[in-house]
Amino acid sequence: MQLIKNAKILKNHELVTRDVLIDDKVIIQVAENIELLGDVFDAKGAFLSAGLVDVHVHFREPGFDYKETIASGSKAAANGGFTTVIAMPNLNPVPDTPERLSEQIKLNKRHGVIHVEQYGAVSPDLVSHQVSDMVGMSSVGAVAFSNDGKGVQTADTMLQGMMLAARADRPLAAHLEDESLRHEGVINAGGQADKLGLPGITGLAESSQLARDLVLAKATGVHYHVAHISTQTSVALVRMAKAEGVHVTAEVSPHHLLLSDTDIHEDNAQFKMNPPLRGQVDRQALIAGLLDGTIDMIATDHAPHGTSEKAQSFKSAPFGITGIETSFQLLYTHLVRSGVMTLETLIQRMVVAPVQAFKLRAPTSIQAGEKADLALFDLENSYQIQTTEFKSKGKNSPFIGWQVYGKTIATWVDGKIVAQ
Ligand SMILES: [Zn+2]
Repeated sequence: MQLIKNAKILKNHELVTRDVLIDDKVIIQVAENIELLGDVFDAKGAFLSAGLVDVHVHFREPGFDYKETIASGSKAAANGGFTTVIAMPNLNPVPDTPERLSEQIKLNKRHGVIHVEQYGAVSPDLVSHQVSDMVGMSSVGAVAFSNDGKGVQTADTMLQGMMLAARADRPLAAHLEDESLRHEGVINAGGQADKLGLPGITGLAESSQLARDLVLAKATGVHYHVAHISTQTSVALVRMAKAEGVHVTAEVSPHHLLLSDTDIHEDNAQFKMNPPLRGQVDRQALIAGLLDGTIDMIATDHAPHGTSEKAQSFKSAPFGITGIETSFQLLYTHLVRSGVMTLETLIQRMVVAPVQAFKLRAPTSIQAGEKADLALFDLENSYQIQTTEFKSKGKNSPFIGWQVYGKTIATWVDGKIVAQ
């Protein structure tokens, strides 16, 4: 048994101080005063939440272990307050058959210090115009499907994939990018791209494929999930589709909520990701969509890379930034403390919505009977984001040096502390 004393928890839209008693991976009691001799952790008034959940991470193993491993990625996740993540399948080998997916799940279990769930690939090798054995993969444990990193280029492949995902009763998460509209772009198309002399990616590459997919999703009844939504038009399309009864959910990344292309002042690839940072109007639309529920959840798209890879220019560096160790902290500081949203709404978007939408076996609140996957955050003191504090192998973040609140004090998985 372990007792967490003096934790602030969310209850009936308020923060209240409670003691939380854990036994055998489960919360067994939450009360104003519990006494226990022995294993007592004094939370000293810090904020205790059900562990954060991220439906979009890249842990790079196998195939790209120099960028991240399941061990380093899951330690980074725990350091950010996450207890359940879903890992993308752009690995080598790609988990695109039931056998490979089973192997990947075994690796995730063996090396993960948190719960690492796995996406299966929609297409063999993520790029073909065929679809994988998605029903077979779901029967061995795929929680969802995606070709993330690449858009599904043909409508027919997407239609077949959606039909299989619907039959498997699993979400299909789409990285939206029509390659015929990409034009080798590396940054959002517009004034900033022109100023820096870099080729641009228009928002149309995302939103035109989204429009196609929403029509197909309606026809198939699949649970269709929009990965890293980034444009005003995309938000409007999702809003319209939801009103039409399409089973669609959407995620937005912390960087698209907090940065826009005008924050890129020079050729610095720490700001290079896909989709790119968009304009101010897009950023405001994303915040509005997150507030009104059009966008269901926050996902980090944690994408670690080697230091020398990201030291290259915008034109040659790989897309992607890390995010799992800084997301709650950045959003708590810049959305909650600044008054844009409540802490309760942030937790809804970072815990409750992903658990419910992806039907994950993870807790959504602090109460007796829930699994003891927990995270404790210091909301009172600020600190500076520094790569030396990262557990991730990836140090590629545009947020280095930012002053934030919400440092993770401790993270519990199955009732045991995995980060402190
Ligand atoms: Zn993606």
